[in-house]
Amino acid sequence: MSSSTEQKHYNYIIVGAGIVGLSTAYKLSLTQPDANILVLEKEHKVAAHQTGKNSGVIHSGIYYMPGSYKARLCINGRHQLVEFCTEHEVEIDVCGKVIVATEEEELGRLEKIYQRGLENEIEGIEKIGRERLKELEPYVEGIAAIHVPCSGIVDFAGMCEKLKELIEKSGNHVEFGYEVQGIHQNGEGLKVKTQKQIFHTDFLINCAGLYCDHVAKSGGVQSPVQIVPFKGEYYELKPEAEYLVRNLIYPLPHKDFPFLGVHFTRMALGGIECGPNAVPSFKREGYGKLSFDLKEATEMFNFPGFWKLSFKHWRMGVDEYHRSLSKKAFVKGLQKLIPEVREEHLKVAPTGVRAMALKPDGEILDDFYFEVAERQIHVLNAPSPAATAGLAIADEIMKKINEVSKLKPIL
Ligand SMILES: Cc1cc2nc3c(=O)[nH]c(=O)nc-3n(C[C@H](O)[C@H](O)[C@H](O)COP(=O)(O)OP(=O)(O)OC[C@H]3O[C@@H](n4cnc5c(N)ncnc54)[C@H](O)[C@@H]3O)c2cc1C
Repeated sequence: MSSSTEQKHYNYIIVGAGIVGLSTAYKLSLTQPDANILVLEKEHKVAAHQTGKNSGVIHSGIYYMPGSYKARLCINGRHQLVEFCTEHEVEIDVCGKVIVATEEEELGRLEKIYQRGLENEIEGIEKIGRERLKELEPYVEGIAAIHVPCSGIVDFAGMCEKLKELIEKSGNHVEFGYEVQGIHQNGEGLKVKTQKQIFHTDFLINCAGLYCDHVAKSGGVQSPVQIVPFKGEYYELKPEAEYLVRNLIYPLPHKDFPFLGVHFTRMALGGIECGPNAVPSFKREGYGKLSFDLKEATEMFNFPGFWKLSFKHWRMGVDEYHRSLSKKAFVKGLQKLIPEVREEHLKVAPTGVRAMALKPDGEILDDFYFEVAERQIHVLNAPSPAATAGLAIADEIMKKINEVSKLKPIL
């Protein structure tokens, strides 16, 4: 740690240097230039988990319930993201995407998504037929589609590097290798315990992603939800097969889960990924096929919500595990969109793990979720499209800080 941060008192400590934590620190540094802000990250780089291991897609906001946090913050965040990345020269391409129906029985659901897109006022969306789809994506076999021109791709890790640079330029700090283990009231502030050092702060913001519920508990907040990790495995098209995909090709989203289905994604830094699937993980930050953590697996098995969800959706679980274990089954899913894709076109690509917030009754918490406590805000559910929405989530957090400070002065 740099000597300038030792034994200092901070106005704000933010846990986690993913896109939500860094966006929050950046926005605070702009709106409260006199505040001193510290981001504590347990890893040794920014975007080490969800933010750096996702699909890299700028979501339009078409899928989400009108008025929900997801809808409002995704659309607002997308506009801010495009402006930020353009201004700061982060790799970005607003290349558009297609959502494709491949069977007659999917047409009703496609229409519902289109209507929702209209309600959410997503710019430029258009229903298209087979011919126009062939012009946009010549190798896709679909019977109808929605063209979403404002979707795109971005280098989220590059955006986080830029946010860190700007936070530090404003005189604030992002420190690596500090795992927050306890948060305690301490007179007029909070004592934040890490494995190496204790920090003092007026206010703490928990943006710890896959461990947000643990951090909340360590601050005395009994979260109504538990994080259940869901792995998302990817393949990558070998260079000789990249001609099959121009931009972003999505199937219809899953009916019961907040997952968008296995899709083709051109990446901002090059290459085309196929995936992700969705299988429960026995380790929150475990990226290998056999990753397992006894304590975390036991925590998951002891949570009634996990079993309720598993019993309700056992059929989907079996299908997803099959797709995880069998490349052939994974390719079969992809061939629904592009029949020419073959097993030999694909090589394994890095896996990501999603933090899915589950209620004890097995219901998936769909929308973003924040819990406010004395001098603390905990972001307890920030799944996709939270990377797209990061800068707008930061605005929402600041609104909540202002509400709390009206009750009790912070600075
Ligand atoms: C497979 C996959 C695909 C996705 N695709 C997209 C997409 O295309 N577009 C999109 O918008 N969204 C996508 N998402 C969702 C998006 O990536 C996440 O919603 C977003 O990155 C969440 O950001 P975060 O900052 O909350 O969490 P994270 O990025 O996980 O950051 C949390 C940070 O907190 C740190 N931390 C945890 N505990 C502690 C502690 N105790 N002390 C200190 N530090 C701690 C972690 O090390 C981590 O760096 C995807 C997610 C996954 C997993």
